[in-house]
Amino acid sequence: MTGARRPEAPTGGWLAGAAAAMVLTFDVDGESPLLAEDARYAENAMLMSHQAFGPEVGVSRILRLLAEYEVPATFFVPGATAERHPRTVEAILAAGHEIGHHSYHHRPYVEMSEAEEREDFERALETLARLGAHVTGHRTPLSSASLRTSGLVASHGLSYESTLMDDDRPYMLDTGNGDIVELPPSWALDDWLQYVNLPIGESYRVKSPAEVVAGWRLELDALRAEGGLVVLTLHPFATGRASRLRALAGLIEYALDAGDVAVLSAAEVARRARADESLPRRSLDRLDPRPDPAVYPS
Ligand code: ZN
Repeated sequence: MTGARRPEAPTGGWLAGAAAAMVLTFDVDGESPLLAEDARYAENAMLMSHQAFGPEVGVSRILRLLAEYEVPATFFVPGATAERHPRTVEAILAAGHEIGHHSYHHRPYVEMSEAEEREDFERALETLARLGAHVTGHRTPLSSASLRTSGLVASHGLSYESTLMDDDRPYMLDTGNGDIVELPPSWALDDWLQYVNLPIGESYRVKSPAEVVAGWRLELDALRAEGGLVVLTLHPFATGRASRLRALAGLIEYALDAGDVAVLSAAEVARRARADESLPRRSLDRLDPRPDPAVYPS
């Protein structure tokens, strides 16, 4: 522990005495985000190969790394990607890891009608169930949750989602259709902004893995001082590259060596959070500001 003074360690609750919890989540997007943006990308062999690296190569390396350190992880897989790469889904399940719902098409929910969003959501659930996954959690694709999304998660009997960004600890969300646990991710802990370059107008500076993981260590240490939840959002086509996985291994070692960080699956954090009656409860209504059309004309 460096720098910040730690508050009193929780004696129970969702952290069960740890200073922080870390969840390794992998969004196995594959080709879906690009095909959802423009189906003509299917004719671009370079783009398709870039995305296929994730399910075809990255995931198996990630599974090897998780086995080496004996840590769990959660893999959010779009239905369309699961159908295109069923052996990848099989390998994740065979290794004992969690599969989560990540839409069917990987299109932004905010651009869909209510009927379209429901159809996409249910098609993804059916697809993952057919491939043998017992799904209890959801992450919205492209961070594009509508005001309906959390209610869909609850009404389909899922336990949690990992999408909204208004905390860095779990909380209970009253969706109007039932309660779910929210496990907030954050951009600072997402590899897309750090590593991904696509020659279709979405270009970032590709950073050194050493630089990226140094930032994630800072996040981890700061959240250890806050009793926080470290949700790493990683994409196998990006983090599955060799040097980046080596850097991730260093972060996992750092967390394990700290001795006060619980490395858990998202489902396990949600299970603990649901049992913790001291967790904050929030309602989805608060995210609907109902803007005054005189102030914000549409
Ligand atoms: Zn995604």
